[in-house]
Amino acid sequence: MSTCAIVGINWGDEGKGRMVDYLAESYDVVIRYQGGNNAGHTVINEYGKSALNLLPSGIFRPDKINLLGVGTVVDLEHLTHEIENLRQKGVKIGPENLKISDRAIIVLPFYPLQDKLEEKRLGKQSYGSTQRGISPVYGDKYMKKAIQMGDLLHPESLKGHLEKLIDWKNAVFSQAYGQPPIKVEDIMEWLAAYGDHFKPYICDAGELIKGALKSGKSLLYEAQLGALRDIDYGIYPFTSSSSPLAAYAPLGSGYPAARVDRVVGVTKAYSTCVGAGPFVGELFGEDGDHLREAGGEYGAATGRPRRVAWLDMVATRYGVELQGATELALTKMDVLSDLDEIPVCVAYEKDGQRLEKWPYTPELDACKPIYEKLPGWKCDISKVRSYQDLPENARAYVEFVEARLGCPIKFVSVGPEREALIIR
Ligand code: GDP
Repeated sequence: MSTCAIVGINWGDEGKGRMVDYLAESYDVVIRYQGGNNAGHTVINEYGKSALNLLPSGIFRPDKINLLGVGTVVDLEHLTHEIENLRQKGVKIGPENLKISDRAIIVLPFYPLQDKLEEKRLGKQSYGSTQRGISPVYGDKYMKKAIQMGDLLHPESLKGHLEKLIDWKNAVFSQAYGQPPIKVEDIMEWLAAYGDHFKPYICDAGELIKGALKSGKSLLYEAQLGALRDIDYGIYPFTSSSSPLAAYAPLGSGYPAARVDRVVGVTKAYSTCVGAGPFVGELFGEDGDHLREAGGEYGAATGRPRRVAWLDMVATRYGVELQGATELALTKMDVLSDLDEIPVCVAYEKDGQRLEKWPYTPELDACKPIYEKLPGWKCDISKVRSYQDLPENARAYVEFVEARLGCPIKFVSVGPEREALIIR
C-alpha cells in the first residue's frame, strides 16, 4: 500500500503519535496535514519521551522525509524551540529531512494573544481553546488575509501583505479588546528572528509528493485531534478549525490527486475529551478520578486534566464511519487492567428512546449512556506481546468492541513504549 492515514476516531489524544512513530518505519514520507501546535503527540522511543506539537512523528527516523503540509498552521517561534529541544536529544533535523509547504500559514505572535483575549471575553461561555492561536489564524486564512510560508521568500511583497493584515487586526484588537496597536516593525523583527532560518525548508509540497509517488515512495499522513473535532462533522462549535479526517489528508498535504489506500483509526479502550462541549457518559467523582489517574489523562499540549468516560461506542462508531477506517488500533488497554468489570456505553437513551446512531450535536445534551458490562481481567498485561497471551477476558473485550464497531482491530496497545504493541 503506498498511502496510509493515521487518524483519531474520537475527541483526540487517542495515541496517534505512538502509532505514527511505530508505522513510520514502513513509509518514506510522513506528513502532518492540518492543525498547528495545539497537537501534542507523545512518543516514547530510543530518544526518551517527547511531546511533538508541530513536527511529524516520523522525525525520529533519519531516513524519512517529514512534511508540514498546505493545510497546517505553523508557529515559527514554537517550531524553532521544538526543533532545538529534539536536537539536544540527538535527533537530526534539517532541510534534508524536514520540509514546510510554501502554502502553510504562519501563526504570527498576535494570534495566540487574540485567542486568549477571545476566551477571556467569552468568560463562562469559552470553548476551552488551547490558546495557541489556531482558530483566529484559520479565520484569517478563510478571510484571505493570512501570511503564507512562501511569503518569506518574497520580501518585496511581504511587508505590504503584513501592513494590510495588521491594519485589519488593529481594528479588531482596539475595538473588540481595547488593546494597544500591533506594530508592523515588531512582526517583521519576529519574522527575521524565527522565520528566516526556515527559508531552506520551504518547498512546493505538491511537487514533493508527486515526485515521491512517481518514484514508488509511500506516504504516511498524520492527523491531529479526532473525527469528533472536525470543523464540519464534529461537535460544532466545540470543534477544531480544520479537518482531521482521512478524506482531507491529500488536500491538506499538498497533492489533492493522491489517494488514501489505508486508514488506521486510533481509539482508546475508554473515552476522553479535553475542553468544553457535550460528552455523554462523563464520569465524575471516584470512577472518573481513578480512570484519569490510571491513564495519566492530562493534556500533552496544555497539561489540562482530560474528561473521562467508559468507551462510548455510539461516538466511536460515528468516528470509524467518518474516517472510513480500514483497520483500528485500540490503545491503553493496560489502563483498564485493575477493574472487576468494565462498563461500555453501547447506545444512548434520549426521551425514553434507544439511540444507536450519533445524533445532531445539540441533542447530545439530552442523551444518557446505556451500558453493558464486561468482566475485567485483573492482571498486568503491559508485557504481553502476542494476542493469544492476553487473558481471555481482555480478548473478549477486544472482540466485543471489534464486533460492535464493524472494523477489524489490527493493533492492541498495552503501554506507551514503541514496542508495547500487539499486532493481530
Ligand atoms: P495523540 O495526540 O493521539 O498522539 O495522543 P497523546 O499523546 O495526546 O495521548 C496519548 C497518551 O497515551 C500519551 O501520553 C501516550 O504516551 C500514552 N499512550 C499511548 N498508548 C498507550 C498505551 O497503550 N498505554 C498507556 N498506558 N499509555 C499509552
